[in-house]
Amino acid sequence: MLDAVAETPVPAHPAADDDAPAAPAPSPVLVRTRADLREVLDRQRGTRAVVMTMGALHEGHLDLVREARRRADHVVVTIFVNPLQFAPGEDLDAYPRDLEADLAKLAEVGADVVFAPDPETMYPNGDPRVRVEPGPLAAVLEGATRPTHFAGVLTVVLKLLHLTRPHVALFGQKDAQQLALVRAMVRDLDVDVEVVGVPIRREPDGLAMSSRNAYLSGTDRAAALALSGALDAARGAAGAGAEQVLAAARERLVAEPGVRLDYLELVDPETMEAVPADASGPALLVVAAWVGTTRLIDNTILDLWKDE
Ligand code: AMP
Repeated sequence: MLDAVAETPVPAHPAADDDAPAAPAPSPVLVRTRADLREVLDRQRGTRAVVMTMGALHEGHLDLVREARRRADHVVVTIFVNPLQFAPGEDLDAYPRDLEADLAKLAEVGADVVFAPDPETMYPNGDPRVRVEPGPLAAVLEGATRPTHFAGVLTVVLKLLHLTRPHVALFGQKDAQQLALVRAMVRDLDVDVEVVGVPIRREPDGLAMSSRNAYLSGTDRAAALALSGALDAARGAAGAGAEQVLAAARERLVAEPGVRLDYLELVDPETMEAVPADASGPALLVVAAWVGTTRLIDNTILDLWKDE
């Protein structure tokens, strides 16, 4: 049922007027089916941005929506916990879901449309037999621990791009490997969309925001600071070369008994291949670690140089 759809073209979102008294933020139109989504999108005129999420929204997600708002006349947010990107035994069932709270947050930042399909809507014939083959970039780092993850991610991203038909799609730098893979897919498969990366949003103490932070106990939460702390330590060593950068980060991580390291690597931000020990210039330091039963990831770009 879609009672909020206007009969006339949907006007572009009005620009903020600093002098006007604050009016209550209009709720985004919620659509759950392909037909309703098509109907709403067909009424839009102008440019459209899409932000794809799994819900349980935090300020990191909202930064993507704010950037989308700046870049397009209409903003569509998708909320879908995609079963295809979870392996058996991962947290698909436990993943936090709160559509009502998400809609309230999205109203505040000016999303126009929220597409929140059921798995049966996205995959009406069950698990798709044809999927995006993400190639070697998906076999390393996250892909080494989660070998089917990126095929599931890219398959749903491509489907959502087809369904939402955006001019621009925004993804967080928090998931740097995912962003690199989306860029590669768009380039290699000639998808007509501009991909924009948005910086990582952190808590005041440095922890990268993540829906999965909700799983952390008090002691886990304190231990989790070792990830962002390791990235800070690494930035401080950027002038001493790649090996010292990795050593500084590792030292901070192993000092925290509540953290079990999965990987820590300095990689090329596009190819995700490890940079050589004598590398200089921009490199991406990526970390993944278990804190209690929660797996967290974080990363930072740093500019390597070597004091002679
Ligand atoms: P998710 O709901 O975790 O699938 O994330 C949806 C989008 O939000 C992805 O493009 C993420 O990279 C992005 N995102 C998640 N957390 C953050 C964060 N802390 N800062 C910036 N972007 C984020």
